[in-house]
Amino acid sequence: MPPMSTQTPLMRQYLETKEKYRDAILFFRLGDFYEMFFDDAERVSKMLNLTLTSRNKSSAESVPLCGVPHHSAQTYINRLISMGHKVALCEQMEDPKKAKGIVKREVVQVITPGVMLDPEGLDGKNPNYLASVCHRQGRWGLALADVSTGLFQMTELADESKLSDELNRLEPREILLPVEEKNRPWAERLRKNFPAVLFNAMPGWHFDPDFGRDLYQSYYKASLAGLGIDSLNGAYPAGGALLSYLSEMKLLKEGLLSRPRIYFSADSMAIDDNAKRNLELVTTLAEGKRHGSLFWLIDRAKTVMGSRQLKNWLLSPLIESKKIEERLSVVSELKENSGLLSELENEFSKIADLERLENRIVAGQANARDLIALCASLERVDAIKNTLSGCGSPLLCESRDKLDSLNELTDEIGRTLCDDPPPALKEGGIIREGVNAELDELRSIEKNGKYFISTMEAREREATGISSLKIRYNQVFGYAIEITHTHKDKIPQHYIRKQTLTQAERYITPELKEYEEKVLRASERICELEYEIFQQLREKAAGFSVRIKKTAETISTLDALMSLARVALEYRYVRPEIVDEPALEIKKGRHPLVEALYREEPFVPNDLLLNTSDQRLLIITGPNMAGKSTVMRQTALIVIMAQMGGFVPAESAMIGIVDQIFTRVGASDRLQKGHSTFMVEMIETANILAHATEKSLVVLDEIGRGTSTFDGLSIAWAVAETLHDKIACRTLFATHYHELTDLAEEKEGIRNFHMAVKEWNGEILFLRELKEGGTNRSYGVFVAAMAGLPPETISRAREILKLLEEKDLQFKSAAQKESPQMTLFEPRPHPVVEELKKVDINALTPLEALNVLARLKTSY
Ligand code: ATP
Repeated sequence: MPPMSTQTPLMRQYLETKEKYRDAILFFRLGDFYEMFFDDAERVSKMLNLTLTSRNKSSAESVPLCGVPHHSAQTYINRLISMGHKVALCEQMEDPKKAKGIVKREVVQVITPGVMLDPEGLDGKNPNYLASVCHRQGRWGLALADVSTGLFQMTELADESKLSDELNRLEPREILLPVEEKNRPWAERLRKNFPAVLFNAMPGWHFDPDFGRDLYQSYYKASLAGLGIDSLNGAYPAGGALLSYLSEMKLLKEGLLSRPRIYFSADSMAIDDNAKRNLELVTTLAEGKRHGSLFWLIDRAKTVMGSRQLKNWLLSPLIESKKIEERLSVVSELKENSGLLSELENEFSKIADLERLENRIVAGQANARDLIALCASLERVDAIKNTLSGCGSPLLCESRDKLDSLNELTDEIGRTLCDDPPPALKEGGIIREGVNAELDELRSIEKNGKYFISTMEAREREATGISSLKIRYNQVFGYAIEITHTHKDKIPQHYIRKQTLTQAERYITPELKEYEEKVLRASERICELEYEIFQQLREKAAGFSVRIKKTAETISTLDALMSLARVALEYRYVRPEIVDEPALEIKKGRHPLVEALYREEPFVPNDLLLNTSDQRLLIITGPNMAGKSTVMRQTALIVIMAQMGGFVPAESAMIGIVDQIFTRVGASDRLQKGHSTFMVEMIETANILAHATEKSLVVLDEIGRGTSTFDGLSIAWAVAETLHDKIACRTLFATHYHELTDLAEEKEGIRNFHMAVKEWNGEILFLRELKEGGTNRSYGVFVAAMAGLPPETISRAREILKLLEEKDLQFKSAAQKESPQMTLFEPRPHPVVEELKKVDINALTPLEALNVLARLKTSY
């Protein structure tokens, strides 16, 4: 880059601005375009596929340049933000026509993924979190704000893995952390685990507790104690930094963020990242898409607010039976009364994203159409209240009473704004007649002006005898009388020539000039006045933030419940019975996704029982492809669906509340994070053994497959023992190590189950039935044949399998002969020990004892 001194004044202005926003892409307004220069231009042109040109092309100091038209800039900004970048918008602060010298420019807005407010740049069904993390006195403080809706919450976590689980659950798009901690191992691990997230390192003083205390006080007009967060001295400083960041971004307007909500992970069922992915709760394992996930299946919400609420419930199911029952009662009532459900759905489908609309209003970024949408949505509230008038479930009644139609606001919006206003705010056409006397008067001047022009045109034509005479308007020269050159000789004396064109000449008259000033001033003033009136209305609507958000939250809750009722109706789900003791009894349970998506074969339902006594760990064996994973996953999904307050795919289900669900299934994408398949498997298993409690549900689909058979089997055996003996949690353990079925003989709480198959004409038939008892075959070669391995490979595999099985049989019978009681892991008793046991020490003389010793020594 050439030195600043040799730059043009405009480039100097650009470089000075860029210096202040080095980590952002600077959109620099030049007339009708936003231009980017130097590195920004080179990077952005590649990312957005824009043409890269240069300013001062011919000179040695040419500057790389690319640009986008200002009216379509938001689309480009959204794309950059979705890629995790930060954009600074630098605007012209004065009218270029009136500027003396270089136009004044200023950065008016900085946009990052975590502070995105534009609906086009947001996914309606997902929250958009900005997170702030700090590490204090061994605990992790985490604050999260969804700036698009105003939700602000905080928590403290005991260890790094819990922090990671929480961030995985909430998927923030931007994370703030203290710059001093940026290079600490924990921060590096965080960055590595969340590669798509924008990390912003802020000077440590933003996280200072005293600084935070003052900020809360000035924003909420309440002390830390008043807000109930004073005891969270890890979390509130993280929240303080978050407030400070928003304040620096000029976004921290009154009403933007709700009062902080404290939550603890122990208040809801913990679903760690593996379980979230393996059970395909919000995205599919194979493609990472929403389509095909449980969320996709159960999301029948009519508003995006309802979808967000449902997703939140799905990822943090309840653990308090009273609260679960409250939701279940509503789902039950709506399922029973499908007419009521349809009526509500009809009303809800007309409701916009009130939470996000309101926050754009508060942030001063809403246009007239947003206010109309707010009004139209609030106008549905009375109808909803009416529809709910006869409802019975307490939660439904409570929700109905919380709904607020805010008539005083909707009346005013309706009275003030035109029905179909344009999106632009400074070009008029948004305020109704009769709202403001001055505006009405200016409009009549403007309207009469049109009449004035047409009468003047007719008058001048007659006076000059030039029938083609026209009065035209042009942005640069204003109004002028246009006369073709053919009529040059007929031009009256008082016409003043203003501009010569190829075919015609343009003139003005003092009368026309005077008119022009009056009309143009009126048009300009109309636009200004309409904008002022709109701003006042928007501020007024912003003042209703708390009430609007309460109604929005109630609508989202109702909508999520309606969605659960709709899927329950459609897929014949039943109300689960919720109990506190850690049991689980599912009759004819179904996998909601396999049932809905794979219709090649009818779904075979299965019963499953887990209890605290003789059946708390099931070893599930059976051939590949038989349905082991399906039955285990469906059990976990049924538990989650029940605890989020929904009905479940079964004939009946008794669910003992589960505090955490853990899964260990197949290979994982952590491979890319520098671990081998086996290492990932062991890390996941270690996590389960470290955190599971007796109220947890553990689903293990194969353990120890990534290492040698003996190592793998030993690990699987020991893990099963630990889960049974030490943790005593409910466990489903699928395995191809048939030796594990021996465990059932030793441990009172372990039982064997298998997926039944039938061998028929050299093929196997999957019955998909979970039956009591173990099995000793995996039918892997059959499945390989089904998958299309070449016939010669298959027949060779069969030969080898036969040999191995014979060898195994010989080994086992030899072992059996030596010691009929031998089990896999019991040490064989040593003959010396056996002989010693037979000796009666009390009956031996010292000499006889020495003789026994000598004999043992020579014999063995
Ligand atoms: P592997 O040991 O190879 O991992 P698995 O025993 O875990 O196999 P699953 O993955 O559960 O087998 O099931 C294989 C397929 O069988 C599923 O994708 C599904 O399409 C079908 N399936 C499983 N269970 C059922 C069922 N109960 N009813 C109908 N189809 C089923």
